[in-house]
Amino acid sequence: MLKVVKFGGSSLADAEQFKKVGDIIRQDTSRRYVVASAPGKRHAQDTKVTDMLYQCYALAAKGQDIEDSFKAIEERFNGIIAGLGLDFSLEKEFDLIKNGFIHKAGKDYAASRGEYLNAMILAKYLGFDFIDAADVILFEENGRLNMEGTNTLLASVLADHANAVIPGFYGSMPNDTIKTFSRGGSDVTGSIVARAVRADLYENWTDVSGFLMADPRIIENPLGIELITYAELRELSFMGAGVLHEEAIFPVRFAEIPINIRNTNRPDDSGTMIVPATDEVDLKHVITGLAGKRGFSVLSIEKDMMNAEIGFGKRVLEVLEKHGISFEHLPSGVDTMSVVIATQEIAEIKDQIKAEVCRAVSPDKIAIDDGLALLAIVGRGMVQSKGTAARIFGAVADADINIRMIDQGSSEKSIIMGVEEGDLENAMRAIYKEFVH
Ligand code: ASP
Repeated sequence: MLKVVKFGGSSLADAEQFKKVGDIIRQDTSRRYVVASAPGKRHAQDTKVTDMLYQCYALAAKGQDIEDSFKAIEERFNGIIAGLGLDFSLEKEFDLIKNGFIHKAGKDYAASRGEYLNAMILAKYLGFDFIDAADVILFEENGRLNMEGTNTLLASVLADHANAVIPGFYGSMPNDTIKTFSRGGSDVTGSIVARAVRADLYENWTDVSGFLMADPRIIENPLGIELITYAELRELSFMGAGVLHEEAIFPVRFAEIPINIRNTNRPDDSGTMIVPATDEVDLKHVITGLAGKRGFSVLSIEKDMMNAEIGFGKRVLEVLEKHGISFEHLPSGVDTMSVVIATQEIAEIKDQIKAEVCRAVSPDKIAIDDGLALLAIVGRGMVQSKGTAARIFGAVADADINIRMIDQGSSEKSIIMGVEEGDLENAMRAIYKEFVH
């Protein structure tokens, strides 16, 4: 058994958290490769070290004094070292980094130093080797991850280390400068490392015990999700149920390695297991989870005999393509076609889009309406359970909510429903109650 474990910022925010992480790793010798985030918030009003680094670098970039700002960052790390009682100093590193800031080594370089330093401390604390992500995570000239190059390199480097700590969030460009992933990117590093060493499991340790079936700000005490497939998670995370960085799924999914989301503060909770596929279906609840998102607009077009007009849809979509607009859904009837688009993508150019679509397909009627919320009801169990759609629509109708759009993917893993933004929360409550309690 071989596990790659990633610890998020809140799990490594101070010495107390480091001790919990140490206990978790020492308890299971298969946890051999560790990916570390920068120290996160210690309490709600605290600032993440990554944000402190961005702020400090912004001062340096303007040529302003960074003494105080940099000192505050040093103190975060020195506090951890002292709290762990380590005989270890980062003073030399601090000097080098400060110098890099003053000489404008780049925003990504600056931001990455939180992971770099925290991983050094963790390696020292655990007695593991430290491997700089800049030496093993490679980006291409165009800023994209060099997936295959990184995989080969990482696999060969890690083969020489029984145990190692690798900083998350960054790698290097072909010219050796540092490049970071987008925010929360340590999840991606963990996934890449798991694939490279062919781990049996990628444990992602954070401050929640996995995914919940619904947003707890809307549904009181929702149940946790014990088991979810990658495909289901994609459907839910697109709607913004973010615990895991979206791109973290791909390397491990490709290698068919499961991810286990765990809680550093409640290590006995089993968390959520994300798997490539499973025969195990929760027939009691049928649905795996639901998620909603506001801020969509519908472009609706009506034209008699539209269905017989070859290339109609293509011409409409070409107008959107020309403006670089992507669409979310495309529910259509015989003489109607609707395109669901994120409002922010078209807000500025609505009239122009309408005019161009008119020119392209001469519709009988055209409108763009805002204020749509989308709700995704996701569950691999839906394929096997008859009447799921009827239960969903019944529950929503009983709550006196008007459904403006329905879209069921042919995979039958999800039903997407459009409602007025103001109805979203009630619709979610009604559906949750129907299926769960
Ligand atoms: N420290 C980085 C951030 O705050 C990356 C991470 O934590 O995954 O976004």
